[in-house]
Amino acid sequence: MRRIILAGNWKMHKTQEEALEFLQGFMPQIEKTPEDREVVLCVPFTTLGVVSKNLHGSRVQLGAQNVHWEKTGAFTGEISAPMLVEIGARYVVVGHSERRQYFGETDETVNKRLLAAQSNGLQPILCVGESKQQRDAGETESHIIRQLEEDLVGVNQENLVIAYEPIWAIGTGDTCNSKDANEVVGLIRSKLSNANVTIQYGGSVKPDNIDEIMAQPEIDGVLVGGASLSPDSWARIVNYK
Ligand code: PEP
Repeated sequence: MRRIILAGNWKMHKTQEEALEFLQGFMPQIEKTPEDREVVLCVPFTTLGVVSKNLHGSRVQLGAQNVHWEKTGAFTGEISAPMLVEIGARYVVVGHSERRQYFGETDETVNKRLLAAQSNGLQPILCVGESKQQRDAGETESHIIRQLEEDLVGVNQENLVIAYEPIWAIGTGDTCNSKDANEVVGLIRSKLSNANVTIQYGGSVKPDNIDEIMAQPEIDGVLVGGASLSPDSWARIVNYK
């Protein structure tokens, strides 16, 4: 069955102290959130430990924002799946457009990271999406199909979340029209062998557009950057109507 997953991506925001302050404001606001909604916070590496301790026993799952494909080794600045599992992470974002754009992530490395996450028991959230240029050139569909083909080689679709994140909508306030997003999410689903994969939308999701986005039949959740940084706006998103 398709699960509803609402994931916040803090990117490079919040010290440990700020993370604790966030949780104090956020946790009381999800006491009545329906049980069938999975809530995930993907936090920077330095706050994983403190957030893990403070989420222990709660319904909120911990996620990281990247993972290397090797278990150990000379890979300065990287982090491995066993390290994330030990600290309590259950999810990891893989192939975010900011990683692809600024840090040379390729479909080949995205694929390796997905495989490593899965083989160590982490649930990867694979991000795919087109640039403005690709959308304007009518290449959205072909670009996403190519990303899926290359990223998903050998990947187990029983343990996978996909986030459709049009790059032009990330952090810009320029949300993709919810019907267009629904259509692309439907396209992604049609290319998968498992119809039950949770497929999220991401890109300038806010309290004032979450209800409409979650009303779309193909969309099973959201991946949220900016609006997941404030306890009140993130709680409103998680408690969508
Ligand atoms: C993201 O970080 O994946 C994202 C969608 O960011 P924002 O919600 O700020 O557009």
